[in-house]
Amino acid sequence: MTALTNLLDLDPAQLVAYCGELGEKPFRAKQLQRWIHQFGVGNFDEMTDLAKSLREKLATRAFVASPAVISDHTSTDGTRKWLLDVGQGNAVETVFIPEENRGTLCVSTQAGCAVNCRFCSTGKQGFNRNLSVGEIVGQLWMAEFALRKTKGIEAGPKGERQITNVVMMGMGEPLLNYEPTVTALRLMLDDNAYGLSRRRVTLSTSGVVPMIDRLAQDCPVALAVSLHASNDALRDGLVPLNKKYPLAELMAACKRYLEFAPRDFITFEYCMLDGVNDTDLHARELIALVQNGSNPVPCKFNLIPFNPFPESGLKRSNNPRIKAFAQILMDAGIVTTIRKTRGDDIDAACGQLAGEVQDRTRVQERMQKMTEYQKKFGKDFGRIVEITS
Ligand code: SF4
Repeated sequence: MTALTNLLDLDPAQLVAYCGELGEKPFRAKQLQRWIHQFGVGNFDEMTDLAKSLREKLATRAFVASPAVISDHTSTDGTRKWLLDVGQGNAVETVFIPEENRGTLCVSTQAGCAVNCRFCSTGKQGFNRNLSVGEIVGQLWMAEFALRKTKGIEAGPKGERQITNVVMMGMGEPLLNYEPTVTALRLMLDDNAYGLSRRRVTLSTSGVVPMIDRLAQDCPVALAVSLHASNDALRDGLVPLNKKYPLAELMAACKRYLEFAPRDFITFEYCMLDGVNDTDLHARELIALVQNGSNPVPCKFNLIPFNPFPESGLKRSNNPRIKAFAQILMDAGIVTTIRKTRGDDIDAACGQLAGEVQDRTRVQERMQKMTEYQKKFGKDFGRIVEITS
């Protein structure tokens, strides 16, 4: 017996090929794709403009399913977080962040992560496995139609789209799960699926240099780089991948990428760690790094207040320090923002870039330990404070 095919795993070209194998014309693939990705329909019986014979064929060979939802919580500020089951005791998180003029979905690309950045609680879990295309794009599929259902907005291209931006900043290093990530990106951009503009889809990487070059050729979208350090010695200790692809190589890759990128800048993410990477000297070193004489990397900085967790041995920089650091960058003409994190009441505050995405057991353990940690580290443990003044 042949295994059933999850149609969420197929990009537009693969769906055409799949329909061809069933003896169907290419336009059937387009119809099918619209039913799935624009109307959120997973039941072939409901795809009323497909011939009954095709629907019957599909029912015996294929299915449409995103990872099962373990939990679904909405914060008082509208941030909505789903915990999704990706099998074998692994779970990943998907977070929707509504803002005035856009809705951003943060998706995961791996269960766990092998990069093991020192400040990231996801890295501490180790690597479990790569997500499939269907598991990556399925996060968008599930979230878009769940959000519409909640608001009573009709499915289909006429209904108001809830997710206008996607960031691959959830669990995992997307460029270490390259093919599924790029296939998922293609679906996100396809007009017969989600039709998102390349500028509104951002991939965040810790700096896998050769794959940055491949992405520039295969599917250039907006790029964010987890920088976190102003020199190699410091970055080697915070982002171990730096030993393989040091800063000079990373900066050169960023410049090459910008020749193909839909935006004319790279976003550098910088987690603010008390006494580790947050001094004036570090800020000045960063400016020298990105401005590099007459050969600068056009960029923006996003400073992220660290979300402490005990095993890291690290502390969050205090707010005046973060603001002073931002001011030095801004005085040098670099656009700099300080990340505000939402959804504290549902624990959606990302444990740094990846989010506190852990397997079910660990989530439960963490919840149990939260009160204990808050006693030890103060009531703001597990939250990212919003800097208002
Ligand atoms: S910050 Fe990103 S790349 Fe680093 S360990 Fe966490 S998930 Fe992996």
